[in-house]
Amino acid sequence: MRIFTKPEDLRAQCDAWRKNDESIALAPTMGFYHAGHERLMRAGKNLAARLVVSLFVNPSQFGPGEDLAAYPRDLERDKAIAAACGADALFAPDQEAMYAPDHCAWVEVPELAAGLCGASRPVHFRGVCTVVLKLFMIANPDVAVFGEKDWQQLAIIRRMVRDFNLPVRIASIPIIREEDGLALSSRNVYLQKDERGQAPEIRRGLLLAKALSDAGEKNVSRLRQAVLARWAQTLPLGRLDYLSVVHPESLKPIETVTDGALMACAIRLGKARLIDNILLK
Ligand code: AMP
Repeated sequence: MRIFTKPEDLRAQCDAWRKNDESIALAPTMGFYHAGHERLMRAGKNLAARLVVSLFVNPSQFGPGEDLAAYPRDLERDKAIAAACGADALFAPDQEAMYAPDHCAWVEVPELAAGLCGASRPVHFRGVCTVVLKLFMIANPDVAVFGEKDWQQLAIIRRMVRDFNLPVRIASIPIIREEDGLALSSRNVYLQKDERGQAPEIRRGLLLAKALSDAGEKNVSRLRQAVLARWAQTLPLGRLDYLSVVHPESLKPIETVTDGALMACAIRLGKARLIDNILLK
């Protein structure tokens, strides 16, 4: 595995692979790897001849007061994991390599970025789209892989790719979880013991909604109330950011579960803000 820190060097390597008729998969990450990242990288490896993993804690997707400085990092461990997952290149630029001091061009997908996580993280998806477009322009991958844990991010990236006719296929992997159901996240390290004990209740609440929906409950307000009532009992340390049911592609709120319906949530637990989602239909 080769390690790159400069965009122009990664671009030269990717150009050389393409000239050699080798397809390229890109797996964008912020590092501090867990089994979800490993699955993401292995999925990328299966989709193309060459796998590029990017590791960049992108400052522009963190708002004021968020955890940019505290975000967990372990570059040496991450290098070993990326290599073991078959990465041919690890792109780990520093901030200056990605953002000129007077950087001012931004990519926005406002209709899909306003709700869900966007409501409490107003600059987040603008930062995500901008850095992902930059990564696409640098590596020019045939395929890029994203996790369904960040469902809104995935929907926004798909829309950006469609609306800009970007020549990249977007692939996704399902949510990878701890045995007790907690979605893996680099931010899980923030959880104190009692918080970690309650965290699996996030998933259990969503599973309750799914069970009710499968049993015929179509009314979103009743589904939400059932989950919130359960969390009031089982997740007292949690502070609700949102619990919403939306169309999985348009992310528009829906009131009645019909064909496509995604229940998504964000819960603050101590210092962590945890997200999860489930397809009801
Ligand atoms: P991050 O490093 O947290 O920005 O995540 C990098 C990529 O891995 C994103 O596409 C995430 O959606 C994906 N990812 C992170 N955690 C998980 C998980 N538990 N299951 C599936 N994908 C994940």
